[in-house]
Amino acid sequence: MKGVKTLTRRGFVRFLFAFFACILAFPPAIVHAGVKKVKYVFLFIGDGMAFPQRMAAQNYKGEKLLMNKFPAQGMTTTYAANRFITGSAAAVTAIACGHKTDIGMIGITPDGKVIKSIAELAKEDGKKIGIITSTSLDHATPAGFYAHVPDRDMYYDIEIQLANSGFDFFGGGGFKDPTNKRHNSRHYVGNALDYMRSHGYTIINSKEAFERLHKGDDKVIVINPRLQPGDSLPYRIDQTPADITLAQLTKKAIELLDNPKGFFIMVEGGKIDWACHANDAVTSIKDTLALDEAVKVAYDFYKKHPDETLIVVTADHETGGLSLGFAGTKYASYFGVLHLQDMSYQRFTNDIVKPLKKKGYVTFDDVKPLITKHFGLKFEGDSSDPLVLKPYEVAQLKIAFEDSMKNARGKHDPYKYLLYGGYEPLTVTITHILDHHAGLGWTSYKHTGVPVPTSAVGG
Ligand SMILES: [Zn+2]
Repeated sequence: MKGVKTLTRRGFVRFLFAFFACILAFPPAIVHAGVKKVKYVFLFIGDGMAFPQRMAAQNYKGEKLLMNKFPAQGMTTTYAANRFITGSAAAVTAIACGHKTDIGMIGITPDGKVIKSIAELAKEDGKKIGIITSTSLDHATPAGFYAHVPDRDMYYDIEIQLANSGFDFFGGGGFKDPTNKRHNSRHYVGNALDYMRSHGYTIINSKEAFERLHKGDDKVIVINPRLQPGDSLPYRIDQTPADITLAQLTKKAIELLDNPKGFFIMVEGGKIDWACHANDAVTSIKDTLALDEAVKVAYDFYKKHPDETLIVVTADHETGGLSLGFAGTKYASYFGVLHLQDMSYQRFTNDIVKPLKKKGYVTFDDVKPLITKHFGLKFEGDSSDPLVLKPYEVAQLKIAFEDSMKNARGKHDPYKYLLYGGYEPLTVTITHILDHHAGLGWTSYKHTGVPVPTSAVGG
């Protein structure tokens, strides 16, 4: 990797494939073009993690992220074959298989040809394979490494293909459709979890059983004991010590997969994207930091095997149009105001707003102390305090509260869509205002075409 200053996605994929081609063609140590054999490969994908997400997390933390310190730093464009702004399925196909494809497709070309992923090639080469994500294990990004389907929503087919992959370790969230409730499977062969077991997999969903896993345990599927909507790992900000983190999964994967032929481990921070769709900066920042902690685990391994290890950190696209600057704060940034948020938009919606609505008669004055308690925003105080709300912001919150009570999320009203994007009106208005106070802006509830950073060390 020395001397490599920039990596486009195509260049990066070619680079990874070059490594594997070298390994396949020349099993002994040194290969052509001055590229050495690499035995251990870590690929980290921050879903929705572009430059703004990484810089926001870095400024929140107050020190450089490890991924931002890697010696090779490049920029990657992300467009799909048929759309400028990509989605996770087309993007992971580009990352894992080296081909641009159409929106929604996984592991196939636009005309339907199956393309082997880098993980499948590594498996054929005798390496052990680990796939880790904070989303469900059948979500687009992890599926890109083991599945080939024309539509990312074919979760049941994806689960069957997971069982057929023979990969050695899966860890993260659960499965979205083991009984084919969506009725979009091509061939139903029974409950997908049973199918996985019949193909030699052990499914674990307690932290104790996870901790007991040790070298020699093969074909393991680890599902976090507690899942948030979408059968996903809870957001980092909502996790407790009972949850299994991306860093812990990465550490365990290394322990189980280390062998003389090496391994390929993919780790996805999949909910950085989800938090950015919801325009919740703090939740996305904490999930970005959780991914950086997993990168640290890989980096500690790299330090012990520097000549045999490659670590690549990249992203599939930007989400939310996050910007590091806002009209209301001009040149100033106040990352400190973000430290008082104590739960995700998801938990605030489900655990605070929903029960209030159920109670029936609730006034705006009832929710003010909850906004202060969970987000730090104050309704009175010195106007120089960056946490004190301006009168027009209090008015915005009051309208959003009324829309929450009416369930007017803006799914069909174009103006309300701009305000809420289909999310819970009060919650999304709180995170917008808090993020504005920090000097952060949002422009979309979807992905954007902003390029993403790609960083690498080793190799
Ligand atoms: Zn997304």
